[in-house]
Amino acid sequence: MKFVPAKPPLTGETLESLTDRLAERGEPAYRAKQILGWLYKKRVTSWAEMTDQPAALRAWLDETFDLMPAELVANRQSEDVTDKLLLEMRDRSLIETVIIRVPQEGVGQDHSRKTICISTQVGCAMGCVFCASGLDGLKRDLSAGEIVAQLLQVCRREDARTPRARSELASFDNIVVMGMGEPLANYDALIRALTILNAPWGLGFGARRITISTSGLVPKILQLAEEKLGFRLAISLHGVTDEVRTKIMPVNKAYPLAELIPAVKVFAERHGRMVTLEFILIEDVNDSLDQARLLRDYAADIHAHVNLIPYNTVEGLPWKRPSLTRQERFADVLRDARVPVTLRREKGHDIAAACGQLRLQTEKDRAAAVT
Ligand code: SAH
Ligand code: SF4
Repeated sequence: MKFVPAKPPLTGETLESLTDRLAERGEPAYRAKQILGWLYKKRVTSWAEMTDQPAALRAWLDETFDLMPAELVANRQSEDVTDKLLLEMRDRSLIETVIIRVPQEGVGQDHSRKTICISTQVGCAMGCVFCASGLDGLKRDLSAGEIVAQLLQVCRREDARTPRARSELASFDNIVVMGMGEPLANYDALIRALTILNAPWGLGFGARRITISTSGLVPKILQLAEEKLGFRLAISLHGVTDEVRTKIMPVNKAYPLAELIPAVKVFAERHGRMVTLEFILIEDVNDSLDQARLLRDYAADIHAHVNLIPYNTVEGLPWKRPSLTRQERFADVLRDARVPVTLRREKGHDIAAACGQLRLQTEKDRAAAVT
């Protein structure tokens, strides 16, 4: 499922691929570096701003590449700390990119730490029963250029709010690949995009500050373990018996826990870093103390950090979040065993809830406008 745009995004090019394209026109290699500098360091929004490039070359670039493949069409800031950007692709597909601001003590909101949640697909094919992103299935994969463009839009937006620290090229602190879509189902585009973001001629953004979240595609987790760049990994576990997990995550039929857990261990050992186990708490589905005890044992065995996320209700779906007492009791089972655990509290930290829902509403409004 691919969308082939009239012009490929410039954000999908590597220094090497752009150098090759330019060489076909007889342009010297240094041009590619200059052009990418304009894009990632100056964040220009028009070819005309690339003032050191000859006019004929700028005209060719304009005919050949798309400079802005993701247009900001709406923005919703919640009263707390999230800032959701609704972006429209060239085929009118909508995706969400979310800025999560974590205020730092003693400084204003503009100096908060920023985590950016990005999408990798339009919709999702995995069919997890609790999730808004997968409700309409998968529409298509995003290209590497569309993935990178999300971060560039964030940079442009943040540059306008706060002057950028000179030492840092990116206007944010962390990237979490937790938006719409299953990142490992769009593996090649994901790795290409993250490689571009990491490269010195791109945003120079450290791989260790990038967390990829997956519903558990075992062969791809093993492939990711072999990548040169050491990304962080988060597993959407949400059930620690096959019975519970299969009920809410169909992917567990293809890759049950007996395959998933060893793959996660391989990844953790390769990278020598803690993996995160994400566990949404859904009332009467996976919030029993038996699940808590098993989760504790798995986490201790893998040396993983556990992220407990009280479920965020999705319109039209029957699932609920458990009471605060029940959430705490669940967390206590892990705390008592000294398993590192976070129980998300503040609304703004509910990254997942932020993703998928603004887009769903806009799609509905569009459909209503057509009929
Ligand atoms: N497809 C990937 C990444 C995107 S989902 C994955 O599943 O890991 C990011 C996280 O949000 C996942 O842990 C997902 O299970 C969780 N999530 C989805 N819907 C949610 C909801 N309504 N409330 C809380 N978390 C949710
Ligand atoms: Fe897809 Fe992740 Fe949602 Fe499952 S939780 S449907 S894998 S986006």
